[in-house]
Amino acid sequence: MNVINKNNFLFNDVSTLKGVGKKLKKYLKNKKIEKIKDLLFDLPYELVDRSKITELNNLEIGKITTIKVIVEKYNFPRIRNLPNKIICSDKEKKINIVFFNSREGYIKKILPIGKKVLISGKINYYKNQYQITNPTYVQLEENEDKIKKIFPKYSLTEGLTEKTYRNLVSKVLEKIEDKDEWYTQEFLRKNDFNNFKQTFLNLHNPLKKIDIKSNDYKRLVYDEIFSNFITLLKNRKIIKIKKERKHFSGFFQNIILKNFTFKLNQGQKKILEEINFEIKSQNRMFRLLQGDVGSGKTILALIAGANVIESKYQVAFMAPTEILANQHFSLAKTLFRSTKIKIEILTSKMNYKNKELIINKLKKGEIDLIFGTHSLFQKKIEFFNLGLIIIDEQHKFGVRQRLELAKKGGDNCDLLLISATPIPRTMMLSFFGDMDISRLKEKPKNRKEIITLAKPENKISELWPLLKKEISLNRQIFWICPLIEDSNKLDYSSVKNKYNIINKIFPNQVALIHGLLDKIEKENVLKKFLNKEIKILISTTVIEVGIDFPSANIIIIENANKFGLSQLHQLRGRVGRGSNESMCILLYKSNLSTNAKKRLKILKSTNDGFIIAEKDLELRGYGDILGFQQSGIKNFMFADPIHHKEIFFLAEKDIKNIDKKNLKKFENLIKLYDRAEIIHKLSN
Ligand code: ADP
Ligand code: MG
Repeated sequence: MNVINKNNFLFNDVSTLKGVGKKLKKYLKNKKIEKIKDLLFDLPYELVDRSKITELNNLEIGKITTIKVIVEKYNFPRIRNLPNKIICSDKEKKINIVFFNSREGYIKKILPIGKKVLISGKINYYKNQYQITNPTYVQLEENEDKIKKIFPKYSLTEGLTEKTYRNLVSKVLEKIEDKDEWYTQEFLRKNDFNNFKQTFLNLHNPLKKIDIKSNDYKRLVYDEIFSNFITLLKNRKIIKIKKERKHFSGFFQNIILKNFTFKLNQGQKKILEEINFEIKSQNRMFRLLQGDVGSGKTILALIAGANVIESKYQVAFMAPTEILANQHFSLAKTLFRSTKIKIEILTSKMNYKNKELIINKLKKGEIDLIFGTHSLFQKKIEFFNLGLIIIDEQHKFGVRQRLELAKKGGDNCDLLLISATPIPRTMMLSFFGDMDISRLKEKPKNRKEIITLAKPENKISELWPLLKKEISLNRQIFWICPLIEDSNKLDYSSVKNKYNIINKIFPNQVALIHGLLDKIEKENVLKKFLNKEIKILISTTVIEVGIDFPSANIIIIENANKFGLSQLHQLRGRVGRGSNESMCILLYKSNLSTNAKKRLKILKSTNDGFIIAEKDLELRGYGDILGFQQSGIKNFMFADPIHHKEIFFLAEKDIKNIDKKNLKKFENLIKLYDRAEIIHKLSN
């Protein structure tokens, strides 16, 4: 084994390859190929069989074909822009070979009159004649072996010919050495992996189509996952440093617990102990608190915050939106009412003077607990002695962002992230491999199950009496539509259209909200709904996870087919926060498809977001996992958590047993998958 050396050519710019000039470099860049390694990772997507010679009698239009013909006659028009045409024939038939933008000299060289040649390209038909336009390969008969092969096909952008591109790839493959490897022979043997060089040789020169279940492909998958895990492991080393212990007796905690009308459940108690223990310890906390919507995470975070405050530190609580920050702020004010904890909120709507006042107080340590959005971490905001950062709904932050926040807090600052996004087990380590994880599985006891049912859209009028009754009981309704406005292209319902319909039936009790409203408009609508000035809120999926609307107990979701399982579950979680019986009604177009039936069955069968996330992954693929796109974690190039589940688990096992002192040999693996930048940024 010999680890790829530091200055390996793979990390050089493509222009360092022979034959890559300015122009080609630009074309390659359009294809996102900038470094030499990018050429390796861009695998062929298909094979083209040019090995069999087809007689001109048997041509098929549109097919990539290899023919063996005699060059008969040139037709070089003297008019600009007209192509050069060469007439060729075999025993039976004739064919035209057409070249645009080519020089006569070049054509005469590759297609000499009277010679037998092999030509490969796509057959088309023009003015009653077969022709090949700009053939991909031309060879004299004596060199026919150069054509009669199976070729890998790459997706190419303008300016790149298959031949140029393939030559580049071959050049790179040739230059890799057998000693370029970071795994031991034993490891490779055990997993049936080829070495680095052989793996790519096989993938770029396959005799059969790329198979994501092949061992060569799996080696890339393993490399990719493993490099991700190592990055997170390294991040963890940077973050989990020694800090000053925090001392508290639980004085505030006890007061707050007495203010509750309920008792913490076993799951909550256990996690609170875990968090308290870590806050007291001399290791910095870097923990994710995960649990379904409404499982009682926020209150745990607030209690932890109170303990940190008792130990004479400040706490910052960051929410994704101002409305959520406000809701947490008022919750804290109620819970902490009989303590001396000083609580404030920083919002964009405050006037300059008030803002400055708060910023000043934070700096002097006159505020214990501050709420806000990410604006809490602007440069101009300084803390007196920040001891804990709580971040709610963190799935909107990527690895890099959350670690930058941790840095900003300083060495003595603990970090607690709260997330309601259930993530399938395969993805857990890829997302959060650098963090400790607490999972809140239990639901508060007084919670009633949400009744979930499906209805065909054309029975919508059956809902009106139900809504009337609920409104008369002073309860509220969410109505979700996928679109903002009706569209000619998409057969989905829109909030605007639905608003017009429902507003006629329930005048003055309906409002609508969607992503195109500005922040203030949105917050105004939500406030009206919270204050029960309106009873039905017609909404796209913009209404945030996490906001507590205790008297909303019905959610109606139109075109339920359009949404993934996890998303439906999240939407459903917006009701059922109070103690009334709640209901989730899924409206479908006409008859349910098999897939829709399956999903409904799953939704009905469980209220556990984690189980639903696993099923969602199976049904829809991982690109659609809620929040994945915004997560900031780069999509995998090769790994797919559905098809490569076992490799995720294998890599997970291996990373646990890895010699943590000897990570240096993987430096280039990380670099290959572009993870190095993250680590570099963090250790500075
Ligand atoms: P999350 O942040 O996980 O969405 P919250 O902490 O906001 O959940 O709690 C949701 C609601 O449930 C709140 O109104 C909270 O007061 C209540 N709650 C939390 N824990 C319990 C419990 N053990 N028993 C009863 N109600 C609870
Ligand atoms: Mg919450």
